[in-house]
Amino acid sequence: MSILDVKNLNLGFNCENGFRHALYDVNFSLEKGKMFALVGESGCGKTMSAMSILQLLPKTAKITGGEIIFDGKNLLNCTQNEMQKIRGAKIALIPQDPMTSLNPLYTVGDQLLEVLKVHQNLEGKEAFQKAIEAFEMVQIPCPEIRLKSYPHEFSGGMKQRAIIAMALCCNAEILIADEPTTALDVTIQAQIMKLLKEIKEQTQTAIMLITHDLALVGENADEVSVMYAGRIVENAPADEFFQTPNHPYSMALLKAIPSNKGEKLETIAGHPPTIQQIINGCKFHPRCKFCMEICKQEIPPMFTVGQNHNSACFLNK
Ligand code: SF4
Repeated sequence: MSILDVKNLNLGFNCENGFRHALYDVNFSLEKGKMFALVGESGCGKTMSAMSILQLLPKTAKITGGEIIFDGKNLLNCTQNEMQKIRGAKIALIPQDPMTSLNPLYTVGDQLLEVLKVHQNLEGKEAFQKAIEAFEMVQIPCPEIRLKSYPHEFSGGMKQRAIIAMALCCNAEILIADEPTTALDVTIQAQIMKLLKEIKEQTQTAIMLITHDLALVGENADEVSVMYAGRIVENAPADEFFQTPNHPYSMALLKAIPSNKGEKLETIAGHPPTIQQIINGCKFHPRCKFCMEICKQEIPPMFTVGQNHNSACFLNK
């Protein structure tokens, strides 16, 4: 059952050469107890899509169309006050860099208790007990002692666990994890992803994973959407995506994942366009091995290529 629906979201920026779109007709849904992965190279619009949900966009960004439906409301029509009640309490963000997300001047416990006070109106023993439970859930050992530690006494992985605990102690219905393991080493990455998967299964929280790392997606996500230059170019159930990818960009991304078979990695020629560059037709056409004449002139619509599997490529026409 979908808990949040992003429908035809369009967003842009006023640039030197005029208004330029950064997101075009973006559509996706988040479901209870499922992990949805939004995948693509840096600058493709993944983070802008997530920040639109939280209404934490740069001042220069302008949403020009679409809806984000959560709890029967269009979040794009909510006031700042209404959004403040939703952010953290119902939709929480796990940021890229846990190192800079905690205030170094306060203990981790004080920061967790503040979250409980603001969002749950809990104080004293009751709040402390809830903080311990949240630390236990994210498997931080000796929670009573660790709550009294300062952020610098935590490793990177422990800080990320503490941030996840803050989201969980408010019973957030949606966790948006923006490259949550980028700043961590590989072993800790695997532990954090395992933890997110367990949380999803135990609490039925919907998780939106934003990543450029398809290896993380393969092991953890239920649904995948691939984004290129502000558009979703393919969406599919994760199993099907990895077995039968359809869009040439998805296929190229999959060939660029390192394997342990010693195969030579393939790279994708060229670079993604900047927001200033205007590319007619399919935005991937300057980099696509299969480019046809129509690709340079028309924007490919989404073609259905399987059950819940769609791809914006004229090869499916
Ligand atoms: Fe390549 Fe054309 Fe498909 Fe775009 S529409 S991915 S250019 S074949």
